[in-house]
Amino acid sequence: MELVRLGKTELMVSRISFGALPIQCVDRDSAAEVVRYAYDQGVNFFDTARAYTTSESDLGRALKGLGSKVIVATKSVYKDMEQLDKDFNISFDYLQRNYIDLFQFHIVNYEKELEAILKPDGPLGYLRDQQKQGRLRHIGITSHRPKLMLQALKTGHFETVQIPVNYIENEPLNELIPLARSLDIGIIAMKPVAGGVFTSNRSAISWILQHPNVVPIPGMCRIEEVDDNLQALNAPPTPAELDQLEADKQELGTVFCRRCDYCMPCPNEIEASYIVRSGMIFKRVGWDKMEQSHIDAFTRGLSCDQCGVCASRCPYDLPLTEMVIDESKAMLRKGVEQGLLTEEELQEKLKVAEKKGKNN
Ligand code: SF4
Ligand code: SF4
Repeated sequence: MELVRLGKTELMVSRISFGALPIQCVDRDSAAEVVRYAYDQGVNFFDTARAYTTSESDLGRALKGLGSKVIVATKSVYKDMEQLDKDFNISFDYLQRNYIDLFQFHIVNYEKELEAILKPDGPLGYLRDQQKQGRLRHIGITSHRPKLMLQALKTGHFETVQIPVNYIENEPLNELIPLARSLDIGIIAMKPVAGGVFTSNRSAISWILQHPNVVPIPGMCRIEEVDDNLQALNAPPTPAELDQLEADKQELGTVFCRRCDYCMPCPNEIEASYIVRSGMIFKRVGWDKMEQSHIDAFTRGLSCDQCGVCASRCPYDLPLTEMVIDESKAMLRKGVEQGLLTEEELQEKLKVAEKKGKNN
């Protein structure tokens, strides 16, 4: 596997690296199997986060004993010292290494968050202390806002930046990535397949590989996904593949779910993230795959009280308060077409939801 220099960190990381968010969705042994399989294929850079539930501990277990043969990055969403200290120590224990290679401030999307991590004797100072103690090697930042990251990188405090980069979300290519290159800052592309919305993950990744020094970290939790993603190394995208990426982009627009699940859980136990991407899913797998359990989930979606909790957590600012109800209705209509409920049953559900909405 080709190795890429991750900017001034001088870390040499695999051209395609490993996003460890999805391993939280499989059991420990399956997680270990897929991580070790990727390592055997030449992947040496693994990115996890405190926020990815079991991912850190499972990754630590899977990579135990590999020492400097692997490079491990993690991150914390906290921008205050006390919580960051807690998170750092948990990450340190879970990853089972002598040091953490890269610790990133996770989801810095607002100026006030950037100010909070930079304030004198604040979180950045805390991480610098960890570096002095030999428990941490490098400090990075992650965000969904390329413009804010221009400001962050110019402070000179970060050695890497992690940002969504894919065929649809290509804004970072205009200013941020050139700036990062000029400042010798490592560039990590999160969401390289935009949550799996492209017809082919492989061509979406091979498109990214056309951009030097941009290291994609596709999320993987199955061996077939590792094989498929790594095939992107074999050849640049063909004209036909580029046409398909463009067609996918035209079809999706910009308001679509990237499967990060930051919006969850819903206090009313509504599967908000699943509901808002279900149209995309069934379009791919076929509407005939819809089952009664899906109808139950969409029916629960109708009981959304528009509290806004999910929307406030979505880094892509999706209008979830409206989307959850609208998509639930649209999916239930599809359920009628599939014969999973009658038009009368649908009207009854809509009536109950409307009455409940008025009472809220
Ligand atoms: S807006 Fe609806 S789906 Fe979102 S958290 Fe509130 S109740 Fe749940
Ligand atoms: S709705 Fe937003 S926060 Fe929720 S999974 Fe989709 S992109 Fe992520």
